[in-house]
Amino acid sequence: MKMKAAVMNAVGSPVEIREVDLESPKSNEVLVKIEATSICHSDLNALNDLTTPTPTILGHEGAGIVADIGPNVKHVKVGDRVALNWVPYCGVCEYCTAGHFHLCEEAFGPMFDGTLMDGTSRLSMDGRQMYHHSLLSTFAEYTVVPEMSCVKLPDGMPLTQASLIGCGVATGYGAAVNAAQVTPGSSVAVFGIGGVGINAIQGARIAGAEKIIACDVKEQNLLIAKQFGATHTIHVGKENAEESLKALTNGLGVHYAIDCSGNTKATESAWKGTRKRGVVVVVGAYNPSMMVNIPASGFHRVGKVLKGSFYGDTQPLRDFPTIARLYLEGRYKLDELVLKTIALEDINQVFDSFHDHSCMNVGRSVIDFSQKQPKQQNVSDTKMELGNSYA
Ligand SMILES: [Zn+2]
Ligand SMILES: [Zn+2]
Repeated sequence: MKMKAAVMNAVGSPVEIREVDLESPKSNEVLVKIEATSICHSDLNALNDLTTPTPTILGHEGAGIVADIGPNVKHVKVGDRVALNWVPYCGVCEYCTAGHFHLCEEAFGPMFDGTLMDGTSRLSMDGRQMYHHSLLSTFAEYTVVPEMSCVKLPDGMPLTQASLIGCGVATGYGAAVNAAQVTPGSSVAVFGIGGVGINAIQGARIAGAEKIIACDVKEQNLLIAKQFGATHTIHVGKENAEESLKALTNGLGVHYAIDCSGNTKATESAWKGTRKRGVVVVVGAYNPSMMVNIPASGFHRVGKVLKGSFYGDTQPLRDFPTIARLYLEGRYKLDELVLKTIALEDINQVFDSFHDHSCMNVGRSVIDFSQKQPKQQNVSDTKMELGNSYA
């Protein structure tokens, strides 16, 4: 079939709206009509990453309607409304059989190769093969994805809000609920209030934490954090985070710290500001050249845990519907994370807005495929709109 897509032809160049050919789904694959897809900072990273195979279609946060299924598809049927998961899994490797689907051994080869799970592509343009991105390629009217990337949504779940669930929302929520396993009445520090951190705050709130302490260098992000459940804030550019965390917790430190910043200094502060037997979860991706320095002195006496968490240890089939139900019950904020809806043709303006380093990067612009005509408005001043929408 022919469809419209935002095509990345070359690293660092604006994406182009082009007509692309999409083959039918093969075994264990699903054709999804994309209704909404949100634009993540990771898409901009991929656009500027020399290792991204081109031509490709970016986009890894999406929701839509199942339009066709290939042979052997069992979990979804035509007409199902689904959110997409960019970490599909085989179900049979050692990690999958232990229930740790986010650590599946099979998905990452195809992900980096730019193919689907069988090592081939369903995408082409002008007769030339294209690459998939994160096995999803959602910046398109349709996509063919692995069956295990499709998560059926509860009735009534709006697809614009659902498009956010599969990346930053699940990662942040899961960091608190699955990885840290925050307990009711506990204290939680969240470092780095962006698209993931704001959802770690929400996860801690849902888990019943009594004190939720947002830590960031941006004043505006700290104000937003309070609207999502933070009870206290620490400006880490002005305060000593370790001392401030201890001052808020009778000198003991927090029970849990979740570092979404990707900054090794934040991890070190999180470690020092966590009490004995505390858990520090690192979600942010570090610069690979960096080292984390944890004091060796007394390490064996404090009983603390430092753990990495990929994708918030998410089990999509369990966690996506849970988050959707929490939203439908009015307990999880997703409306507030949708900054605006745009047409596919406006995508480069959103990429441009990410270059503004003062951009808070908490919410998302969402491509809504019901918007056929490109809007003429300028979406580059995301900062100002965030300020208004969270005021
Ligand atoms: Zn993302
Ligand atoms: Zn597996």
